[in-house]
Formats: sequence, C-alpha cells, structure tokens
Amino acid sequence: MNRLAKASAVVIAVAAVPYFVFLALYGLIRPSGSPARKRDDKPSVSIVLPTYNEADIIEKKLDDLLELDYPMEAIELVVVDSSDDETPYLIRDYLADHEHPSLNLIEEEERRGLAPALNDAYAAAANEMVVKTDCDSFVANDALHVAATNLADPDVAAVTGQNAEVLGGSEVEEGYRGIQAHIQTLESHLDSTLIFHGPFSAFENDAIVPLDPNSLADDTELALKIRRNGKRVVFDPNIRYSEASHSDFTKRRLQKDRRGMGLIRLLVQHRDALGRYGKYGGLVLPFNWWFMIVSPWLVALSIGLLTGAALVAAGPFGLVVPAGLGLFVRLGGSDRLGSLQPLYAIFDAQVSLFRASLELLRGDGDGTWEIDEELREAFE
Ligand code: GDP
Ligand code: MN
Repeated sequence: MNRLAKASAVVIAVAAVPYFVFLALYGLIRPSGSPARKRDDKPSVSIVLPTYNEADIIEKKLDDLLELDYPMEAIELVVVDSSDDETPYLIRDYLADHEHPSLNLIEEEERRGLAPALNDAYAAAANEMVVKTDCDSFVANDALHVAATNLADPDVAAVTGQNAEVLGGSEVEEGYRGIQAHIQTLESHLDSTLIFHGPFSAFENDAIVPLDPNSLADDTELALKIRRNGKRVVFDPNIRYSEASHSDFTKRRLQKDRRGMGLIRLLVQHRDALGRYGKYGGLVLPFNWWFMIVSPWLVALSIGLLTGAALVAAGPFGLVVPAGLGLFVRLGGSDRLGSLQPLYAIFDAQVSLFRASLELLRGDGDGTWEIDEELREAFE
C-alpha cells in the first residue's frame, strides 16, 4: 500500500468513528416515537405562514390548512406576506367566506427576508401554541393535535415532525429523511433535537424569542434558543407532513446548499453551547458539528487522497476512482441505486455541507433567495 492509500484509510476511519458511536447509542437506547410525556390538550393555536409570491399554490395550501382536524374557532392564521404578485388578494378572498380561522394578514412594504418577516408574525401571534408552516408543504390532519400533546409535557416547549411523503417522488430525499428521522428520534430521547423543519414546527408562544434577521435556518434557530433557555425541543415522527424535493444532483444544490449554510452558521454562532445543557451540548451538538462541519472536509479529503493513491498505484487507470464516483452520483441522482440510495443521500448531504462551508468562508449568504418554481409544480 502506498502512503496516500494509508493516509486515506486513516482519514476514512477517523471520519467513521462518531457514526459508529451514534449507531451504538441507537442500539442501546432503541428510541421510538417522541420522548414527551404526552397529555391530551387543546390549546388555542396561531398558524404562522410566511409567503413570497406563492399565487400558484396558496389556495391549495389554505385548502389543506382548513382540513386540519382541530376546532377552527381555536385557530388564528397569521400570514406575513412580502409578495409582489396577487398572493395577498387570493388569501383575503379565500378567507372572506370563512368565519374561522380568523385572519391576521401582515403585508410587508418590501421583501426584507424570511427571518425579519417571521419575527413580525411571531410578535403578532396571540395564541398559546404557535405553528409555523411553509407554503409549499401539506400537513397531516392530526398534526396540530399531536403537536399539542407533546407541548403538554411541562418540560417540552417545541416540537417538529417528519417528512412522511416526498412530493415529486425524490428517493434521494426520501432516503435521507428516513435516516434523519432515526437520528432525530435518538437525539430527542437523549435530550433534544437540533434541526427543526420548515413545513411544520410548533412552539409554545411564551417560549418564542426573536430570530437573527440574517438567519437562513429560522426554525432550527428558534428551537436551539428555546433549548438554551431551558426547555426541551423534540422530534415526533407521528407529526407528518409532505414537501417537494428534487433528486437531480445539480437541482438539489441550490436549496440544500442554502439550508446547509444556515445550519453551519447557526452552529458556529452558538459554539459556546458545546458541552453545556446536559446531553444536548454534550452529545447532540457535537454530533451535528461532526456531521455538518468536520465530516464534509474529511469526505473531500478522502476522495482526494484515494484518487491520488490510485493514480500513484495504477497510473492513468487510477482515474477509475473519480469516474466511479461520477457514476455513483449519476445513478444516485436518478434514483437508480436501489438499496445504496440512502448512502448516496448521505453523500449528497455532505457535498452540500462542504459547498456551504466554502460559500460561508467566502462570506456569501444573505436572507433572501429565489423561490423554486419547479418544486411548486409538484403541488398543482
Ligand atoms: P425552502 O423550502 O428552504 O427552499 O424555502 P422556500 O423557498 O420554500 O420558502 C419557505 C417559505 O417562506 C415559503 O412559504 C415562502 O413563500 C416563504 N418566504 C421565502 N422568502 C420569504 C420572504 O422574503 N418573506 C416572506 N414573508 N416569506 C418568504
Ligand atoms: Mn420550500
């Protein structure tokens, strides 16, 4: 074995250790469902919906919200809208025919970005439980009820759910979400989970604090701050929603890279939380630091070293390494890897996180982005 091969073996081994630790913990704890001590509860609810040029899908979204299995007179809908299309008129028209839910439509003069818009909406939300949902997602009928039973645990102040069905049929996303659900369940049983999801996140109104106006990870940021203030924030796989996703490697980059940037920046901003807050700062945050910040560099390094080792050992035939990787990406990106599809999903996430690190080092990333038209089509 040449020296490059040895070096790559070492890097790969080091990169793998935390994953085995997590697998071992999983085997020991065997978590399932939410760790919250659930109780039946029917709090009043503010549904917060941010919209930016969603005229094509907003009515479908409202149809979905009105089908929720929850007393509509206990719900207020707080929409914060920054559109320059007809979205706000469509919303007003739609709800004009309904006595409930009541509508509080906040119209922004100009688009400032999602986080400042959400800060206004959260400040306006008047009810006990605040549910944030994105326009391009559908929520299961019982989601409010299940969320409320979680928040009824006095130790728990926020809960998020799982992407049960990926619209647009991306198996890449499906595979990744499946793995993520296992990880987030374990994190919640250890203490609290890190990542909160845009399609459905529920918070106790009393626990809400302002977001950083530049945030690109608003839901996760709010949950992290709530955990730092002392309450648990958990994942419940029984809260189900659906969201559209691409499979194609290039198409996935835009959204995933931005989300990766938001999460990495958040972890770095809150680096002082490492090692504090029980198992949250002791295990959950370090694991996420590893997965999102350290491991992507190790993956990139091992690919470089493996390619170098193969070139040294086999001359031009060493190019089978990058060629094989290219094939893996092509097959994975078109959902043709079968049982290896989840492995591709992890690789895909690592690529986004690596690119996000590079973009952050270059200083990119403000709080606005293009709405993905193609993903919106999955709803029509
Ligand atoms: P992604 O799922 O991370 O790609 O983000 P989306 O583009 O789907 O946006 C999430 C939600 O925020 C959607 O409901 C958008 O309409 C809304 N949104 C995005 N940017 C803005 C903004 O600048 N202002 C407001 N009020 N809403 C926004
Ligand atoms: Mn979206």
